[in-house]
Amino acid sequence: MKSAEIRQAFLTFFEEHGHTTVPSSSLVPGNDPTLLFTNAGMVPFKDVFLGRDPRPYVRATSSQRCVRAGGKHNDLDNVGYTARHHTFFEMLGNFSFGDYFKRDAIRFAWTFLTETLGLPKEKLWVTVHISDDEAERIWKDEIGIDPERFSKLDEDNFWQMGDTGPCGPSSEIFFDHGPEVWGGPPGSPEEDGDRYIEIWNLVFMQFERDAQGTLNPLPKPSIDTGMGLERVAAVMQGVHSNYEIDLFQNLLKAAAEATGHSDTSTPSLRVIADHIRSCAFLIADGVLPSNEGRGYVLRRIIRRAIRHGHKLGVSEPFFHKLVSALDAEMGDAYPELRDASDQIARVLLKEEEQFARTLDHGMGLLNAALEELQGDVLPGETVFKLYDTYGFPFDLTADVCREREVRLDEEGFQRELEAQRERARAASQFGADYTASIDLEGETQFTGYELLADQATVTALVDS
Ligand code: ATP
Ligand code: MG
Ligand code: MG
Ligand code: MG
Repeated sequence: MKSAEIRQAFLTFFEEHGHTTVPSSSLVPGNDPTLLFTNAGMVPFKDVFLGRDPRPYVRATSSQRCVRAGGKHNDLDNVGYTARHHTFFEMLGNFSFGDYFKRDAIRFAWTFLTETLGLPKEKLWVTVHISDDEAERIWKDEIGIDPERFSKLDEDNFWQMGDTGPCGPSSEIFFDHGPEVWGGPPGSPEEDGDRYIEIWNLVFMQFERDAQGTLNPLPKPSIDTGMGLERVAAVMQGVHSNYEIDLFQNLLKAAAEATGHSDTSTPSLRVIADHIRSCAFLIADGVLPSNEGRGYVLRRIIRRAIRHGHKLGVSEPFFHKLVSALDAEMGDAYPELRDASDQIARVLLKEEEQFARTLDHGMGLLNAALEELQGDVLPGETVFKLYDTYGFPFDLTADVCREREVRLDEEGFQRELEAQRERARAASQFGADYTASIDLEGETQFTGYELLADQATVTALVDS
């Protein structure tokens, strides 16, 4: 089954069970300053769960574009290292707003997986929250799940959108990719491997967490589920990595062509193929690279992709060339992407040209520092210099260090940031113009003011 067919089969199944199909919303959550990006299918329905946004339906289904590259569910550092995490992915979901609850949610999921998709029951593993005896009874007594493949866990089975907002206990369904893949079942010490892959999360929405951390009951118990399209496509297409599914084949080929590197299993090519999706969709949804907030997260993803190109020996702008392949792959399902594709390519090209000027020098400095390094921790001053002078986001430096099995002195980096902030404050007391741009090797890139704004917002949004 192709990805597009799976998406359609899912929506059709839930339409047949009384759900209204709702189109994907923007990656920029409307009117929600608590959230960096839409990170789950439920985000556009947040106020419906809270009882503040009445809709003409009590059951909905969607295929929602999501980005997890900052905030509560940040997978940026996983990309390139696991077979299952993307910065951008599509989440298939079904929702009940005070209508059906656990029993039907579990039945729908099981029927869709084992009948519509025809997955073998003995390859499916299930978890529920440690306290959830009701869900346990439904799975064991009504569905007949083998207790061998069932477990009750704690934190992994309590889902929340962010630090505040709707939340509740959950039940997760995993697919066993077989003994040839490394990893252990959910709850085991090897669960981070890619053998048992979580494909679907059923959330029994019952609470709203407020700013004080208190759980308040929702007006009505509700259902929110999320299944990653790329993960279920890997299962259906008999491959063990999301990067081997149909949707990624042409993107990987395009990445191979643009970088002149033909082995499409190279992690850097996978990172690039992943990152073009989040970058292009973010730009299509109106985010532009900048030094603060959402724009800074976008800039970080773009620069991470460019660095992986550099690692493959590319010195010319290449990343923007992938936009047309992405358009060919996803433009039919997402006309907003197609409409914006020229603009997306222009924005990326500009960012590539700008960063290219400092990337080489920064990598030179970083490589030299790594070669001279005594021990396995890169000093905070070096990380800061790369950030401040060469425009290396913290996680870009971290990505390079991870490849060399070196850690970063994050505290030292924070101290340098703070010291710089102090200097800027002191300078402003004497009337110095700290908003003037700083000349970085002939390039006007950051300004003192932007750096301050950048740190404040990024600390608030990204490290929350
Ligand atoms: P994992 O434990 O594998 O990181 P999760 O528990 O963080 O996943 P949920 O928040 O429950 O994921 O999201 C619902 C579903 O969305 C998951 O079951 C999975 O199929 C999919 N999903 C989550 N994160 C990603 C990602 N970064 N890339 C692709 N699919 C994802
Ligand atoms: Mg996760
Ligand atoms: Mg999980
Ligand atoms: Mg989950």
